[in-house]
Amino acid sequence: MSSIYLDHAATTPMVEEALMAMTTQLAQLGNPSSLHTHGRATRKTLEDAREVIAQGVGCLPSEVIFTASGTEANNTALKGLYWQGRDNGRHVVVISAIEHHAILDPAHWLEEHEGAEVIQIPVNIDGVVDLDFLKSLIASRGHEIAVISVMHANNETGVIQPLREVVEIAGEIPVHSDAVQSFKKIPLSFKDLGLYAMSLSAHKIGGPLGVGALILRRTVEIPALLHGGGQEREIRSGTFNAPSIVGFAAAAKSAYYDAQHVQTLRDAFISGVMSAIPDASINGLNSQRLPGIVNVTFPGTQSDSLLLLMDGQHISCSTGSACSAGVHEASHVLLAMGHSQLTAQSSLRFSFGAVSTQADVDHVLSALPDVITRGRAANLS
Ligand code: PLP
Repeated sequence: MSSIYLDHAATTPMVEEALMAMTTQLAQLGNPSSLHTHGRATRKTLEDAREVIAQGVGCLPSEVIFTASGTEANNTALKGLYWQGRDNGRHVVVISAIEHHAILDPAHWLEEHEGAEVIQIPVNIDGVVDLDFLKSLIASRGHEIAVISVMHANNETGVIQPLREVVEIAGEIPVHSDAVQSFKKIPLSFKDLGLYAMSLSAHKIGGPLGVGALILRRTVEIPALLHGGGQEREIRSGTFNAPSIVGFAAAAKSAYYDAQHVQTLRDAFISGVMSAIPDASINGLNSQRLPGIVNVTFPGTQSDSLLLLMDGQHISCSTGSACSAGVHEASHVLLAMGHSQLTAQSSLRFSFGAVSTQADVDHVLSALPDVITRGRAANLS
């Protein structure tokens, strides 16, 4: 039996265009920083790729800084903007309570090691950041805030955040957004949003693993995390990973994603889940969400055992939250939305992608009642 992949929020299959572009580039010789013909040829390919990414997200080519991951882009932005702000007497880092660990953890690191005070913006029961909280925080402590980081769309629930409003409320305070999940799924323009910085990752859009980009306003200078050859405005030294960057650009340029198709599958899945398991609930259902992510709470179950039962039915999905030392932790995102430890640990994330089909939905729905019954029985024993 073929397996069904419903974990596109974790990573996606590479699109044909990216595979082809990357394979071709792997055979090319030349360090893009070298001045000879070989180097210049690779540099040209790289600059073309930069332009494609810039066009895809509405920024200038010079605002694209290639990194080795979305995680690196997030770390570079948050730490860099904090250090820049601290030099001007600002020591507060504001993040939403539902950020990915690639923002949450560097923020805590800044608190533990660099004298930052981290303030989290709460979210409501639908998973949307509390703008009134942000407004009053800025009214009382705006002059102390170095950086605000609010993700564009959440990776566990798919809930889209009111970024434009966040930027408006922030005024002159630099705003960074982790757009790793939203790029290519919903409209995204760095310029129109008025952001200072934004993070992207290739492997969520049909590109290769291990390459991303930090989009950083041209006029903004931040300290580097990596020092060396001075590449990428001296913010991110290191020889360019030309094959991966080319693959990233090819994926960004490809049709990749039919949002309407993905959303139709998602909605068919949701109604199937609700009729098969009437006491299940969809997290963030009342909010604007990405087309492909569904986060479901199945009362009386344990996410880990559900995941394994699903896997036994050849279905790949996710608990959506971190596993540390083999111990499943309740999702901080669901906790922030008002879940208890117990219900947060009874939830699964299904994420649909460009290659998903109605047959995938049908298969999961046919397996679901038995998986839930067995999951509940295991939870009682
Ligand atoms: N931010 C979000 C919202 C993500 O979903 C992920 C990946 O799971 C990342 C950042 C990290 O990106 P990368 O895997 O490229 O490090």
